[in-house]
Amino acid sequence: MRSGFYAIYALLPALLAACAVGVPHAPAGPEAEPCVARLDRAGVTYAVAAMPAGGGACTVDTPVRVEAAGIAWNQPGVVSCAFALDLDAFAREDVTPLALARFGQKVRLLRHLGTFACRRETGNGNRWSAHASGRAIDIAGFELADGSVITVERDWRGAGAKSLFLQDLARRACRRFSVVLTPDSDRDHRDHIHLDSGPWTLCGA
Ligand SMILES: [Zn+2]
Repeated sequence: MRSGFYAIYALLPALLAACAVGVPHAPAGPEAEPCVARLDRAGVTYAVAAMPAGGGACTVDTPVRVEAAGIAWNQPGVVSCAFALDLDAFAREDVTPLALARFGQKVRLLRHLGTFACRRETGNGNRWSAHASGRAIDIAGFELADGSVITVERDWRGAGAKSLFLQDLARRACRRFSVVLTPDSDRDHRDHIHLDSGPWTLCGA
């Protein structure tokens, strides 16, 4: 009996190893990784946020309060985790390379007017704005590393370097976001570029 008892103990590691081989694993890859883990890996500065009040259409998928995504923001903003990832990629892959090419320096601050807002669009049949689901941002401008300021309101028009930068950026944004609205779109956007990953598609650049 005793020798049989110890024999089972001796076999245990092998039995456990055999069981482990048979355990089905969760699929690997980015799809399996929680969104906030991807924010961590990207180095986004954020805090998990409470679901904003409002309910209904004003529901944000994994709300996060972002302070920096690729570039520091002038004020924190609540967005969905997936949209924070979009903005981080936009900063790194579009804003920074275009600023380096046009001005020979990086952008140190992104100035925005707002992100989440529980509201409907003006016009468009009164449908819910992408801001209501935390999938939109209104960018008013940028501050370069040397302190010079680029504003959509002042610099969008014309053919100077700042104007070309903003217009190039808006065109690049159309490849990444479903809606891009600029001062060329309507008077509501005279002072900002609206970017969203909502269900509609419109490139106003
Ligand atoms: Zn907007």
